[in-house]
Amino acid sequence: MAQISELEIPLELNNDIQWHTLAPGEALALLQVDSAAQGLSEAEAQKRVERYGPNELVEHGLKSPFKILWEQLTAVMVLILLAAAGLSLFLGKFLEAWAILAIVALFVLLGFFQEYRAERAIAALKKLAVPCSRVYRDGMVKELPARELVPGDVILLEAGNILPADLRVLESANLRAQESILTGESEPVEKSAAALPSPDLTLSERYNMLYMGTQVTYGRGLGLVVQTGMQTELGKIATLIQAVRESMTPLQAQLDRVGKQLALAGVIVALLVIMIGIYGGEVLSQMILTGISLAVAVIPEGLPAVVTVTLALGAQKMLKRNALIRKLPAVETLGSVTTICSDKTGTLTENSLTVTVIEVAGTRLDMSGNSPLSQLEPTRESFKYERSASVTLLLTGIALCNDAWLEPVNGTDQFQAIGDPTEVALLRAAVQSGINLEKLHQNLPRVGELPFDSGRKRMMTVHRWTPPSMEFLQPVFRFWRNWGIDTTQPYLAINKGAVDVLLTLCSSYLDEGGNLHPLQAGQRESIMASNNRLAAGGMRVLGVAFRLCDKPDLTLSDERDLIYVGMIGMVDPPRPEAKQAVISCINAGIRPVMITGDHPLTAGYIASELGFSGGDAVINGADLDDLDDLQLAAILDEHSVFARVIPEHKLRIVEALQKKGEVVAMTGDGVNDAPALKKADIGVAMGLTGTDVAKEAADMVLRDDNFATIVAAVEEGRVIYDNLRRFINFSVAGNIGKVAIMLLWPLPFMLFGLPLTASVALLPLQLLWLNLITDGLLGLSMGMEGAEQDVMRRPPRSPGRGIFSGGMGLHIAWVGLLIGFVGLAVGFVYYRAGQPYWQTMIFTTAAFLQIFQALATRSTYQSLFSIGVFSNRVMWFFILLIAVLQLMALYSPMVIFMGLKPLPPFELMLCVGLGSTVFIAVEIEKIILRRRRKA
Ligand code: ADP
Ligand code: MG
Repeated sequence: MAQISELEIPLELNNDIQWHTLAPGEALALLQVDSAAQGLSEAEAQKRVERYGPNELVEHGLKSPFKILWEQLTAVMVLILLAAAGLSLFLGKFLEAWAILAIVALFVLLGFFQEYRAERAIAALKKLAVPCSRVYRDGMVKELPARELVPGDVILLEAGNILPADLRVLESANLRAQESILTGESEPVEKSAAALPSPDLTLSERYNMLYMGTQVTYGRGLGLVVQTGMQTELGKIATLIQAVRESMTPLQAQLDRVGKQLALAGVIVALLVIMIGIYGGEVLSQMILTGISLAVAVIPEGLPAVVTVTLALGAQKMLKRNALIRKLPAVETLGSVTTICSDKTGTLTENSLTVTVIEVAGTRLDMSGNSPLSQLEPTRESFKYERSASVTLLLTGIALCNDAWLEPVNGTDQFQAIGDPTEVALLRAAVQSGINLEKLHQNLPRVGELPFDSGRKRMMTVHRWTPPSMEFLQPVFRFWRNWGIDTTQPYLAINKGAVDVLLTLCSSYLDEGGNLHPLQAGQRESIMASNNRLAAGGMRVLGVAFRLCDKPDLTLSDERDLIYVGMIGMVDPPRPEAKQAVISCINAGIRPVMITGDHPLTAGYIASELGFSGGDAVINGADLDDLDDLQLAAILDEHSVFARVIPEHKLRIVEALQKKGEVVAMTGDGVNDAPALKKADIGVAMGLTGTDVAKEAADMVLRDDNFATIVAAVEEGRVIYDNLRRFINFSVAGNIGKVAIMLLWPLPFMLFGLPLTASVALLPLQLLWLNLITDGLLGLSMGMEGAEQDVMRRPPRSPGRGIFSGGMGLHIAWVGLLIGFVGLAVGFVYYRAGQPYWQTMIFTTAAFLQIFQALATRSTYQSLFSIGVFSNRVMWFFILLIAVLQLMALYSPMVIFMGLKPLPPFELMLCVGLGSTVFIAVEIEKIILRRRRKA
């Protein structure tokens, strides 16, 4: 292949080059990559980023600031206000018009900034959710975010990856990809590296290509990035995919309905007030303005926006506690979770596994002297020389049949093991026992494999073995000849997996002396007994078996006649915080359920350690297969620990729990977990050990893989829901109060048989002020309340229940009416006394009523004094602000155009005092509620 100078690489590679017709070497040469394992240099990659741009799809989803502003300006409420301003202008009421416009400006700005913040918060979350790839750069494997990939990068592929770019397959070990988003074909397609002769093949026929956005469902391999960003096949159709916008959350939908009903009520009320005014002899135009202002007071236009903002900011808070929200409705659903189904390994346990026991044919070796630290040097020199051929074979097996790898630690000459924690532990044990990995890989290169799969609970790798040149393997080969194995077969297959599964594939075993024997019932039993003993102590146990074979590409049917070598026991202590989290789950009325692929005894041990109910009655996954849905439901009533489960069982368990009316959170990490994650109300993926596919299917990703994080997210979810409810409680009751004042104003006149000489209680501007300043600002601070003391000590809210349930509807009604009554009473008394400031009294009392209402509403059951009077700083800031504004309205030139009169000091104090009545009343209600709760 002729060298092509840099400038000759076409900028839009897709047009001219048929990558699938090229041999892997040709493709590499065309992209000027010297060798796949070397990859690009960082400097070259940098140049290419500048040339081709970042590898990302142009995001059309994010709203521009102008769009947000436009949406704010065209909101129904703003339009109504603008109409009111226009009408005021038309009527010659310039002051009012300007005041309304000022309020509009304030409202739009506030709304704009809130929404802008929310939008940024969501965008930031989306950025975090981007998967990383393992890339060869400068001859080393690096973990890079997808946007930094350039054409020419060589990336490592494995089951569970979502492909970050368009790739030419360089190597394939049973690589299979699910390409339905591009081709519509739902069955995974087998991929290989060989060139295809025909240039015009459809995407689905290009078996040596992989496309951005599709998924690797099986196998492992190597791919060469040929197209990035908008040049990829997905990029060409990306506009179609991005058109999908997030739908409303159930709460948003419910509030949208409530909002519409309130709007209708507002129109009716406005009409009624207009009629009352006209009956009282008021000017029609003036009354229309009053009607409009009242309608504005009733219509809760801000509601849906408040929900979005609260949820988005809630998601941000959850992120601080390591829970990354991928779908906004999850924030809300989390608050109502009733069952959390969790993996064991890594979620409930620390996932810092350490090999402590090796057992070969009845001989147990204590490995607990092994350093659990990242130290990767032989730590037990003597062990290196003492060990038998069988032990060497076992250690060789766990080092070779292993996908963890060593990476240099920055700035030192040390190495650290990276990969699945189980495999890291095994690799570490092998190295610490004196296995030389480099030599091993040279002499026994991997040429084939059947990857690990949590359904099969094992994996197999195939290695070419050259006649024994390695001194430390000499005894093994000598034994092999003794065992009568045909050592001319060129391939060594190593299988590692759950001991119980492995034994079903074995037909012989090695004894203490290293001799080969047929595996009879007695030996099977004693091996199983050893396995159970270790598992019962909470250990994760893996076995190793092998065979020699004559071809590298094995299939599942070749996993037979294996020779059993031995087992390895690893300890993985329960996370200390998991115990606390399980307790808080139970206190919060949430049931923790353990679902693991591990051994029943290991599961049972950890479950009892952590305080799960039923740790001693573990259900085996295989037993679920024979149950019908009813029987499964019965099992789920009584048992909380499930072991040796395959991913398909997870789906059944989720469905059965949901049928019982539970709101289920389910964790998962593998490709096969995706259906269960999608089905669960909250699908939870592991951030550290999870595959891209699992993350993509999940609603939430745990950045620390920690069970306690799920519980923390549930707590945040409850707080957020409480705050939304509190906000609605506050504003709807306040609105009812103001409507009552306006609507019932004629009532006292009628009761006392008096003519209606003043037909409106409040002027339009005063109403607008109360609605937007007092109510609006206080409402905002209602959403910033911290957790109530009992958030995690009460049962979950039932998901079907509406937002007004649980006595809140009643509470709203009486508080609203009380506010109305106090306002009316003070106004009427002062009006009858002939005071010119009677209207100012209503206005000021209403404002203070709302301030006190806000303070009382901060907690549903707890008294303000027990939650801390000043614990909501934001609210106090707004209260002070409102107080200052209120005083300005009374005692500055504003008084004129607000239609107010300055109040004498006693009257001002009276308004404050009357305002506190609602506080006292609500606190009394809380005392009654607390008593009733205890009883
Ligand atoms: P969990 O994570 O719930 O413990 P998994 O589905 O990951 O369960 O694993 C199930 C079983 O598969 C384990 O108990 C173990 O016996 C086996 N196993 C786990 N990881 C590996 C691995 N890397 N290689 C071989 N076998 C494994
Ligand atoms: Mg696992």
